[in-house]
Amino acid sequence: MKSDMPKPANKVAFIDLQAQRRRLGQKIDDALARVLEHGRFVMGPEIESCERDLAEFCGARHAVTCGSGTQALHMAMRALGVASGDAVFVPAFTFVAPAEVVALIGATPVFVDVRENDFNMDPVSLEAAITTARHQGLNPVGIVPVDLFGQPADYPAITAIAEKHGLFVLGDAAQSFGATLDGAGVGTLAKVTTTSFFPAKPLGTYGDGGAIFTHDAELADVLRSIRNHGAGNDRYDHVRIGETGRLDTMQAAILIEKLLIFADEIAARQQISERYTAGLSDLVRVPRLNDGATSVWAQYTIIIDDHDRDAAVARLREANVPTAIYYQATLHEQEAYRAFPVAGNGLPVAESLTGRVLSLPMHPYLDEKTQDWIINSVRLALGDG
Ligand SMILES: *Cc1c(COP(=O)(O)O)cnc(C)c1O
Repeated sequence: MKSDMPKPANKVAFIDLQAQRRRLGQKIDDALARVLEHGRFVMGPEIESCERDLAEFCGARHAVTCGSGTQALHMAMRALGVASGDAVFVPAFTFVAPAEVVALIGATPVFVDVRENDFNMDPVSLEAAITTARHQGLNPVGIVPVDLFGQPADYPAITAIAEKHGLFVLGDAAQSFGATLDGAGVGTLAKVTTTSFFPAKPLGTYGDGGAIFTHDAELADVLRSIRNHGAGNDRYDHVRIGETGRLDTMQAAILIEKLLIFADEIAARQQISERYTAGLSDLVRVPRLNDGATSVWAQYTIIIDDHDRDAAVARLREANVPTAIYYQATLHEQEAYRAFPVAGNGLPVAESLTGRVLSLPMHPYLDEKTQDWIINSVRLALGDG
């Protein structure tokens, strides 16, 4: 490998939000100026247009925006009637939000193992987890597959298990909005799907935000009511316990502009992932797409089996290549979640992945020179130089 490559002039960004901002130019400023002018900062007209655009983008009949991806999960679980004594199945190798929300509602998160080939919920472990929950006297009600790093979970297998046991499927697409499975958009692959617009997500806004997708008109109405303090037809007539769940108008205005370039950004992410894969697949285990799946590459995560990860991270830092470890620990190994059940046979894949994964810089504005620098640096850091 080339150890004499010129170092990039600028610091390599793990995620570069400013490059996107430069591309969007005046458009965001103009959109925000319009909101300042009309002054409807909560539930302004941009909310409805943004929801229409989001639904159209993914093919769902209804999109309901809300305050964050975590809130989207919370509202969706409330709308689905999750309550104390219920068990909801969540992967152990993911961001904390799905487990957090189940526990917050007073139900029990039951941890499921993941598959090494796509980092997503393992249907075999899911079956074992359902048995575990029943043995513990819990009432299984639903499954939350997470589309980790941008690739849809195995919805066909998970849906078959859900139907067999009478459970709902709530897809957590915080990392995967914009991806597809067998031509169908994320947002249409489960009864309800949630996403997040946290700035670092593939489709992020300039603050917190989230959305819920469904084909079910009745459920969408319930979600809109929950979002607005449980209001019925009249604003001061409360038909259920709700919350302050609204996305603010400025974030919606920003999302409208960002959605216009999102398909193009997804294509750029795909191209970068292909170059990473071409440059690294002989050396480390690179992420693979399942048959029929596309990814929005929220993360490009490699598995390094035979190398010292800490040393590699340090060497990459010296080479000006930022990395991240998603995830350092499984959820069931963390203090707040230790008491909750895990699928019968344990979670060996999740537990072993935490010590071997490494996520490389990924955003649509990584130029080829920087990609080459990153690829070369990874090769050198892993001792192939
Ligand atoms: C980011 C994330 C969330 C939470 O989204 P917020 O908008 O930060 O609340 C939920 N689930 C997964 C898998 C995530 O990556």
